[in-house]
Amino acid sequence: MRKRIIAGNWKMYKTMDEAKSFVTEVNGRLPETDQVQAVICPPSLYLSELATLAEGSALQVGAQTMHDTDEGAFTGEVSPKMLAALSIPFVILGHSERRQYFNETDESVNKKVLAAFSHQLTPIVCVGESLEQREEGKTVETVATQVKKAFQDVHADQAKQAIIAYEPVWAIGTGKTATAEDANEVCKEIRAEIGKLYDEQTASAVRIQYGGSVKPSNLAELLSMDHIDGALVGGASLDANSFVEMIEVAS
Ligand code: 13P
Repeated sequence: MRKRIIAGNWKMYKTMDEAKSFVTEVNGRLPETDQVQAVICPPSLYLSELATLAEGSALQVGAQTMHDTDEGAFTGEVSPKMLAALSIPFVILGHSERRQYFNETDESVNKKVLAAFSHQLTPIVCVGESLEQREEGKTVETVATQVKKAFQDVHADQAKQAIIAYEPVWAIGTGKTATAEDANEVCKEIRAEIGKLYDEQTASAVRIQYGGSVKPSNLAELLSMDHIDGALVGGASLDANSFVEMIEVAS
């Protein structure tokens, strides 16, 4: 059985005070369950403080991105070694906004995935097609290629631990969600690709999230699908009530 994981990707939102209030409010309200992991990914500036604040609670903290080397002259960057030293368990890699605005490529995402595993960080590897690719019927081909490249040289034992987030680019922040059936179909193909790259066991261990305009009211249907093990949530994860509600729905 794959454990569900609901992760909030806060992107570039909230001040430190707002972030701390969120964690304080959510801490005491999360349902006691081992069915689902609850994760927030705040701006890296807040990781240390929020991880400390969430200690001992069911809430976990992850990073939104990182560099692929341990240290060096890379102004503005945060390294895998730094995240590992703070015991940050998760890092989102290859989000479509990173690919679009910060020139991340399948190759650079692969380097980061390898770096994450070498520091015992669990990567949440984002893949997804653009509207144009979907309209051209290239959805499966696009995501399968992204998965294949992201996992190049990743050992099967590590791949098993990975989380893949299927986020169709056209569904991010638009209010448009893929139908649960369509999302499941693509997640199934992603799992099949992992099966091709590794084996059945690895494919059935990998957790796959759906992301793109997920909210409390559409989460249950998405989670009822065979191949959807959780969600990567942007906008709806910023509000404590709606975040807690999503964890309840997933429990
Ligand atoms: P929204 O939930 O705001 O559509 O964002 C999705 C996303 O990009 C999560 O990583």
